[in-house]
Amino acid sequence: MARTKKLIDIDEPQVPPAPLMYLNGEVVHAHEAKLSVIDHGFLYGDGVFEGIRAYGGRVWKLDEHVARLYKSLKVILVDLPMTPQEMRDTIRMILRRNHLTDAYIRVTVSRGLGLGLDPRGVSNPTVAIMPSKLSLYPEEMYEKGLNVVTVSTRIPTADAWEVRVKSTGKYLNNIMAKFEANRMGAGEGLMLNSAGCVAEATGDNVFIVVGGKLLTPPGSAGILEGITRAAVMEIATAAGYGVEERNLTLFDLYTADEAFLTGTAAEMIPMVRLDDRKIGNGKPGPITNKLIRMFRARTASDGVSIED
Ligand code: PMP
Repeated sequence: MARTKKLIDIDEPQVPPAPLMYLNGEVVHAHEAKLSVIDHGFLYGDGVFEGIRAYGGRVWKLDEHVARLYKSLKVILVDLPMTPQEMRDTIRMILRRNHLTDAYIRVTVSRGLGLGLDPRGVSNPTVAIMPSKLSLYPEEMYEKGLNVVTVSTRIPTADAWEVRVKSTGKYLNNIMAKFEANRMGAGEGLMLNSAGCVAEATGDNVFIVVGGKLLTPPGSAGILEGITRAAVMEIATAAGYGVEERNLTLFDLYTADEAFLTGTAAEMIPMVRLDDRKIGNGKPGPITNKLIRMFRARTASDGVSIED
């Protein structure tokens, strides 16, 4: 059996549903892509990633996602022999090759191959760029809003730098938090940090609206500073709303007028219940709905074309 990765001929008809993906310099069928069992990402969760969206043939916030990826790599001391420009071009190329105009793209980089913790024994970072068709919350959830519960799994030490890196390793915590939310039949789990302040949902940032103003926890609360969060802050500011990063407690959320979550996959989604309390009147609020419309208008028009 051939042990090398199979290269796909550019004219070869694609076999749905498995998309083509990029793996370490080659384009391969995703269902045939193989990683080594001594990949540090597999052994230790030693890597970083990005989740990116394409809408209508344009990649939304491509530069921002690639910039965050390279910041994450810098923090974890991985030197990628691929420039940010090559990364951007490869993401666009893989979408073109799959004829995907609307997609979710998972970019994952691990430190590379090596058994043992010492990074000096690890070489050749693994780079995987895997597009997939979108599976999102049903539209009904955007209309009705999400029921959220506070989970007992906390963000460990909010003041530690590592919690702010989009690293594969830290997501075990978020997955455990998701288990809790699922067990309670909730749409999402809200995580507090070690100081008891509101941090974020398992894969999304949190906003509340109080007296017409948007409030969201700061980076120092131990959150991942989402690219969707930044886009919403910018859209809201341009629309004349006050936006403030502030430490929030559950009291602030229970008594807020409106609340919503933001993330690349979820986009903006209203949060209408938290821990059996209605937020506002228990329906998506008017400012949330207005911002959702504005956000969708932006994703429908902005972005970097996948075409050359
Ligand atoms: N927080 C966490 C823990 C996340 O994993 C994500 C991304 N899924 C976000 C927030 C939102 O970030 P972004 O808007 O960049 O997707």
